[in-house]
Amino acid sequence: MRVGLAMLQGARHEHEEAVMSIAEVLKQSVEVVQLRTADDLDSSIQGLILPGGESTTMRIASRSEGLLDSIYEWMESHPNRPVLGTCAGAILLAMPSNDRSPYIQAKISRNAWGRQRQSFEAPIDVTLEQVKTRGTSIARKPDAYGHTPLIVGDVESDIDKDAFPGVFIRAPRFDNDGIDCEVIARFGDEIVGVRDGSKCAVTFHPELTNDRRFHAWLLNEIAELSPTD
Ligand code: GLN
Repeated sequence: MRVGLAMLQGARHEHEEAVMSIAEVLKQSVEVVQLRTADDLDSSIQGLILPGGESTTMRIASRSEGLLDSIYEWMESHPNRPVLGTCAGAILLAMPSNDRSPYIQAKISRNAWGRQRQSFEAPIDVTLEQVKTRGTSIARKPDAYGHTPLIVGDVESDIDKDAFPGVFIRAPRFDNDGIDCEVIARFGDEIVGVRDGSKCAVTFHPELTNDRRFHAWLLNEIAELSPTD
């Protein structure tokens, strides 16, 4: 399997580590392809991760190499291939640039929980069928850059074992009345994750935790692709 990871900005290495560790559990042979220029993205890529960060910076940073445009073109050429957008990645799916139509039918507002210091962690309720019950939680070692995951969602200390550890960092907010696709994650009454066909968008950061359910979803979706997808 070849998973493309947009190296636009933000928590990228954590996503790579999360994919590789769940690949081992699922016994899948996976290569994470770091996407930096438009040329790095071709039809051999079967699934994509759009990480969090700062979406305006991501849009500006990608201009010179045309990466974001090539990502959107790849999604249009391969509508069934799965994409996981986390936080700013969710914004890029809901509000693509350059007059493109949204890839998820969900209204989203940037920075709507407040400022950076209003960031928070909270257990959330995941209803996406494939990720409903707790998957394997894997203790992570620091990666090649010395990054280690936050200690949240530790299996032993979780009261509700099926709750997903939500890490919200200056997160966007979905408009509860502006959703025209499947709701897959809630924090109380608040919608924090949606799925529109092959696109999954969450306003939190699963890659910063030890819980790999969303990365498992991505690999499982790739496994189910047909050769014509
Ligand atoms: N506040 C960022 C934005 O609007 C998103 C934050 C994140 O990805 N953690 O782009």
